[in-house]
Amino acid sequence: MPTKVDMEKIVSLCKRRGFIFPSSEIYGGLASCWDYGPMGVELKRNVKEAWWKAIVQDRDDVVGLDTSIMMHPGVWAASGHIDSFTDPLVECKSCHVRWRADTAEGGKCPKCAGELTEPRMFNLMFQTFMGPVDVKAELSGARSLAFGAPEISGVGVAKLEEQLDRATIYLRPETAQGIFVNFENVVTTSRKKLPMGIAQIGKSFRNEITPGNFIFRTREFEHMELEYFVKPGTDEKWLDYWVKERFNWYVKMGIKKENLRLREHGKDELAHYAKDCYDVEYLFPMGWSELEGIANRGDFDLTQHAKCSGRELSYHDAEAGERYVPYVIEPSAGVDRSVLAFIIDAYEEEEVEKEKRTVLHFHRSLAPIKVAVLPLSRNEKLTPLAKEVFRQLCPSFVTDYDDSQSIGRRYRRQDEIGTPFCVTIDFESIGDKQVTIRDRDSLAQIRVPIEGLDKVIETKLKGEAFDASTLWATREK
Ligand code: ATP
Repeated sequence: MPTKVDMEKIVSLCKRRGFIFPSSEIYGGLASCWDYGPMGVELKRNVKEAWWKAIVQDRDDVVGLDTSIMMHPGVWAASGHIDSFTDPLVECKSCHVRWRADTAEGGKCPKCAGELTEPRMFNLMFQTFMGPVDVKAELSGARSLAFGAPEISGVGVAKLEEQLDRATIYLRPETAQGIFVNFENVVTTSRKKLPMGIAQIGKSFRNEITPGNFIFRTREFEHMELEYFVKPGTDEKWLDYWVKERFNWYVKMGIKKENLRLREHGKDELAHYAKDCYDVEYLFPMGWSELEGIANRGDFDLTQHAKCSGRELSYHDAEAGERYVPYVIEPSAGVDRSVLAFIIDAYEEEEVEKEKRTVLHFHRSLAPIKVAVLPLSRNEKLTPLAKEVFRQLCPSFVTDYDDSQSIGRRYRRQDEIGTPFCVTIDFESIGDKQVTIRDRDSLAQIRVPIEGLDKVIETKLKGEAFDASTLWATREK
């Protein structure tokens, strides 16, 4: 099914309006790395804030966490990330499923018969070395010496190899493991009872073999992950709960229901840790693709970490009078992929006042700029009042001030970045101390007093209808 907009238009709007730029562009860019510009950074912050509000702030059974990107390598051995990704792998260029080279016979993807990449020794994780000494360079020097005199330098090589092994660490490929290894700390300090969740937003890194589709699949991205710990036996009920909860969140944040669907993973697709998994899929320009995964991880992670660390990672259920290893339901979403879906879904080209306009119908809470202050012209009589209005609004909302070009062009520009409200100051404003608020979606205009304007904008941003007479009544009192 074709979508209403192709990816080139989205990429071009993002560049033109300061949402997303290619990384290191003046050096020719770096493959599939992107930078968020002034509009992009606001949008991304708003997406993260909306998620945090729904997952942590609005609930009393979830707490937050912020763990480090670099972790003890033992974590990745326990989680299965070191073992699972060191085989020669091929990846399907169309559905991105990875296969051990020996299981994909005939050079075609066993799932969709798509073309496969060449087999590579593939480790998904980015490796780096901790410590200022360049052990790698020293090892390479020692190896060439050992080549000429093995009996003298062999010991040095072995020692350096050991040092290199110890210095090798990984950038996390998911934030989840930081949560699992802190399970005990959080349960003890937060005094929460099960079912309870721990949420984290942060950068993850994956050495994807086939990144692409703009910010859909990159090697550096941000995760929004919740690990929700439950009593074994109640896990299926909670999986069902979170699948619905997460689907509805996207709808609540403005994504059209017809562009979303749920897909249950087949048993052959499940990750090594998962008992069951659902994807929330979005109709991206390249077709239906995963937006978020909601998995039942069972007790895999806590059991593995208990085994490998030697620490007891179980939960004492005082009410039931028993001790058990909790099961985990994990809704795991990508910030960048959500940002892309929100932009695509908000995008509209339409004709208004006999002119074409491109508009982003963002949900008000996601819009990068909430209100733009636009004096009718750069006239010296208008500017002081317009600046005064700007100063009144900017402590409460992300506010733009724009007095360049014609008012029509400025409206178009604000439409294209999805600003819900424009406040226009005209010559009458000087006398009657009133301004015009223009609504991005309905294009309706209302005239309201400058005094109390921030309250009016606040009401409108909450999506409530505003009755101007109430404001006058308040004023007269
Ligand atoms: P995919 O099948 O697309 O590679 P995944 O199933 O490996 O994704 P998860 O490990 O379930 O992904 O991560 C949860 C979410 O994180 C995904 O639904 C997606 O939104 C996001 N995500 C994962 N990998 C990337 C990536 N390389 N770039 C951007 N976002 C990503």
